[in-house]
Amino acid sequence: MAEAKAVGRPKQAGGQPVACPRCEAFNPRGAATCAACGLSLVRQAWADRYTQAPWQLALLSILTFSLYDFYWFHRTWRMLRDLRPGGQPRRPGLRTLGLLVPGLNCVLIYRLFRDVRDITPAAHPPEQEREGLEPAALLVLYVGFVLCWRLPTPWWWIVSRLAIVAPLLTQRQVNRAVVATLPDVRGARQFSWPELVALAVGIFFTLLVLNSTYNCALCIPTLNNT
Ligand SMILES: [Zn+2]
Repeated sequence: MAEAKAVGRPKQAGGQPVACPRCEAFNPRGAATCAACGLSLVRQAWADRYTQAPWQLALLSILTFSLYDFYWFHRTWRMLRDLRPGGQPRRPGLRTLGLLVPGLNCVLIYRLFRDVRDITPAAHPPEQEREGLEPAALLVLYVGFVLCWRLPTPWWWIVSRLAIVAPLLTQRQVNRAVVATLPDVRGARQFSWPELVALAVGIFFTLLVLNSTYNCALCIPTLNNT
């Protein structure tokens, strides 16, 4: 289980007890795992696993031609599984594969947006509940922009990038929920090594697409002829 793999040193015992983000049982401050449900309570591990600055998500999604979105959906399902009392969905990997099935993917994406909005009360203080975004609107926004890849050149490339807006709004909510539960975290995590590699490869292919689509920058002979 992911909970058992959490790294980091538990803080010194003593002080205010902390509520478990999943089952809401109180545990002594500094406990590594929840005595009631076994969830890891090592704060930084949570932040490192599930939070992300919106600009980092946008950059990764845009430069990987939305391939990063698959990882993002998988990570968000894992977060829901860890945070929610029922531990659903049990198989985030299987759901991610389901994204490839037309029709089913719309249901899965709708439920993900809905579940993030309805994240456990402990992780989602009452004053934030009304800020929840309408999952149907997010679904329309996401699927609508993704379908724009069918537009003629060069519009498909620009417009379909905007699909990331719905995950961005959802990630902002995830960040808020995680930080609200764990107030002393350092903030969002940094790029991981695989993400940096993805960025480098993405920049290369983006330049290729830009060059062939817009016939610019690298096409000096063409410019000289005009
Ligand atoms: Zn618990």
